[in-house]
Amino acid sequence: MSGIECPYCGAELIHDDVFGRLAGFGDGKINGTIYRCPNGRNQDETCESSCFHVAGSFYAYHEGDTSLKEGYPC
Ligand SMILES: [Zn+2]
Repeated sequence: MSGIECPYCGAELIHDDVFGRLAGFGDGKINGTIYRCPNGRNQDETCESSCFHVAGSFYAYHEGDTSLKEGYPC
């Protein structure tokens, strides 16, 4: 997956990490991907995602509702 744009500032989101049941705790299944807006991460005022609890963080599940969510997965 690539080319996802920040819904606030339009910058291309950076593929930051994955989340899920990590190896050692379960079957290693990956539930989704974490993305970062480069402007939000730098707490640049041009992007509202800089105000998130985790600045510039978005995530999306790989299955089910795959729409981009704001913040950080639980
Ligand atoms: Zn942004």
